[in-house]
Amino acid sequence: MTPPVTPLAAPGFVEVADRVFVARYRQWDVGVGLVLGRDGAVVVDTRASDVQGGEVLEDIRRLGRDIEVRHVVNTHVHFDHTFGNVAFDTATVHAHDTVARTLEVHAEHIRAAVREDPGAAPEYGYTEADLLQVLATAVRLPDCTFGSSATIDLGDRAVTMAYAGRGHTDGDVAVLVADAGALFLGDLVEESAHPSLGDDSWPLQWADTLTSHLIAAGDPSVVVPGHGRPVDVAFVERQRDEMATVAAVLRERRLGGVSLAEALHEPDARLPYPLEHLEAATRRVWAQLPAS
Ligand SMILES: [Zn+2]
Repeated sequence: MTPPVTPLAAPGFVEVADRVFVARYRQWDVGVGLVLGRDGAVVVDTRASDVQGGEVLEDIRRLGRDIEVRHVVNTHVHFDHTFGNVAFDTATVHAHDTVARTLEVHAEHIRAAVREDPGAAPEYGYTEADLLQVLATAVRLPDCTFGSSATIDLGDRAVTMAYAGRGHTDGDVAVLVADAGALFLGDLVEESAHPSLGDDSWPLQWADTLTSHLIAAGDPSVVVPGHGRPVDVAFVERQRDEMATVAAVLRERRLGGVSLAEALHEPDARLPYPLEHLEAATRRVWAQLPAS
């Protein structure tokens, strides 16, 4: 007789809700989810390279040798959540429609950035070797995409993927395991850093998107962010309110006739994050809203 699985003893994955696990990895502090069901397992996000995706698979095998990963969900297009897809060659990869359209362009953008600056960054947990693996990884596109929502049937439970509007990117999806009260929000929420507002982000819509996800999810007992430790709904609501403040202040300054140069250099005490963290967001708002 085989001994029972003791998930919490595994070094990688930790159970955060009934048969819902999370592993947190050093490089870019990415969180990876694992949902077990009668008819197989779902992995949420795959890390930043083929090697790192393979490490996730090893950690899953350590949890239970007969766990079969049948599905992968990419919460959004970014390389630290998608480049490990290639390691899950027998699984179906699910993502929002836009990920299929933008992943290769994003991959080129990341490779160019790595070639330009191939040095390690201890503050983000990655080494030069990690970056070489990013460069060497072949992109694997999603197999199944959707515009609004889709469901994975694991026999005894359902895993629901939903899009609720733009935010961190134009294709962020939430992954809900309703029977366990577990919600994955990708980089719409970050616990170990401020939310990342990059040059593909939508600062003006972000807070509304988070509100829609929270309403649709009911009252989840645990929310898994793209980076950092699992959080509760109150944490998400606080970060949602911060993003609403970012949007309101940037909108007011833009419509009030503040120049881009001024907005980039003159702090506003109401902003919840440092001005330098909001540079790309500021440029996005100035491009997206007409001057008054
Ligand atoms: Zn991201």
